[in-house]
Amino acid sequence: TPEYGSVLDAFDAHIAENPDRDAIAYFDGAITYRELDDRACALAAALSTRGFGPGDRLALYLQNDPAFVVGLLAAWRARAVAVPVNPMNKAREVTYLLQDSGAAAVLTLDGLYHSVLREVVGSGSTAVRQVFVASALDDQTRNDRRVLPATAAAITGPDVVLLSTVYARFAGQACASAPTDPASPAVLTYTSGTTGVPKGAINTHRGLAFAGQIYREWMGLGSDDVILGIAPLFHITGLVGHVCAALVSGCRLVLVHRFEGSVVLDAIREHRPTFTVGAITAFTNLAGAEGATKEDFASLRAVYSGGAPIAPELRERIRDRIGIVIHNIYGMTETTSPAHAVPLGVATPVDPGTGALSIGLPVFNTRARILDDDGTVLPPGKLGELAISGPQVVPGYWNKPVDTADRITGGEIRTGDVGLMDAEGWFYLVDRKSDVIIASGYKVWPREVEDVLLGHPAVREAAVVGVPDEYRGQTVRAVVSLRAGAAVTDGELIAFCRDRLAAYKCPRAVEFVGELPKNAAGKVLRRGLR
Ligand code: ATP
Ligand code: MG
Repeated sequence: TPEYGSVLDAFDAHIAENPDRDAIAYFDGAITYRELDDRACALAAALSTRGFGPGDRLALYLQNDPAFVVGLLAAWRARAVAVPVNPMNKAREVTYLLQDSGAAAVLTLDGLYHSVLREVVGSGSTAVRQVFVASALDDQTRNDRRVLPATAAAITGPDVVLLSTVYARFAGQACASAPTDPASPAVLTYTSGTTGVPKGAINTHRGLAFAGQIYREWMGLGSDDVILGIAPLFHITGLVGHVCAALVSGCRLVLVHRFEGSVVLDAIREHRPTFTVGAITAFTNLAGAEGATKEDFASLRAVYSGGAPIAPELRERIRDRIGIVIHNIYGMTETTSPAHAVPLGVATPVDPGTGALSIGLPVFNTRARILDDDGTVLPPGKLGELAISGPQVVPGYWNKPVDTADRITGGEIRTGDVGLMDAEGWFYLVDRKSDVIIASGYKVWPREVEDVLLGHPAVREAAVVGVPDEYRGQTVRAVVSLRAGAAVTDGELIAFCRDRLAAYKCPRAVEFVGELPKNAAGKVLRRGLR
């Protein structure tokens, strides 16, 4: 059963028990649970002195920096709502998120402040009144941001405050510890925008605590574990699978400022992580990192991939190359991440029909069912839309009553994912409902074709989309990138598919590109290819 009403409750328990344990490792420095809370309390105090109050939104526009976690906890201490913003976003996208969330304050890093935020906030098009700027000066850690002393000095203005000043001025602030309402909004997490504009899902305190607890219990996380943070923290996978999982389990989180094979490899060698979760693209990158050996990854006892399907061939390749066995975890922003997972140490079942790897079993306190278009519950083996209910399902989207009513009824969300459940209760997905291709009246699920293409030794990435066709309605088109040094023709790839798939599913055309378009969560953007 759900154990905590909020992540803050779990965090408070760890501070009381083990204040000197490391909470975050970053480069060669570390921040203990006590220090993390001191910083969060200082920022919370600074926010409230400036009139920022309960229910207000604090945007977190930064990379995987310890300040992200400080900002998250500060927002919660101030009974406010955190709004993670993708640090890769440029002015137009940042403006949309700040406007949509109505954020009154932003926490950022100096580089982003100078390159994007100063202009956005300066334009007056948002409700932002306060900007807090973190810099490398705040952490006595080795890093590559050596230009900072100069840029930090350039940060001025009545509404702009350096986080280091906040820490100095509000050191030793006692934090109000009034209980948090479990049902109240804790974070607005924007969906990845794979199928349309990002929507702000309202993650509650209870939902986040429950999601963190799922990681603790299903992945067996305890205070001695070390979580490697490779997913972006602004995305639900990183927010829950890294931050909430660590704070609920009372363990250490290793952050890396930039996702780059060699940087992550260094962190792995130094910190010997035991657990990680991320997008499959991240593992593909790690497997390709120069000098990576199986020994480097030997400390990882549990590795999960979520957010996008895992092609079976790719999973094999990664296991052969770096020795890690990837387990599936399924969830969405709207389910505060985990809804299903393959339990550790259990072999992943494969759907005989499609060859897809199972996304796992529903986690505890979670109901998953397959529904027909009219909402009828379908029996095992039948294809339909996956619907989820449980404490992790969000009550709705921020300021989007129509989308909310469209997707969520009585605490159950229709995921937009099409799949089935087998007789033993394992779930499998075929694809997103919105991506189905109807070719000559036949349904083609792009992912099945992509999985076949990925089985070709020359293919590195594959995406399949439907393109309009006068005669067939739509035809199947593949866009692929090749592995370094590999060569194959379109005709050969089509023939490869013809040997393995019904003719109507096979691509009629293949286009070669250097790299497929992906969003910040590492997902291939099929809509960009259409
Ligand atoms: P948007 O809703 O804005 O179009 P998005 O759906 O990609 O973007 P997320 O909430 O990040 O935003 O992703 C959830 C989706 O990711 C799920 O609905 C599902 O399609 C896909 N997904 C997540 N985990 C898995 C998995 N293990 N296997 C297959 N697909 C997955
Ligand atoms: Mg979605």
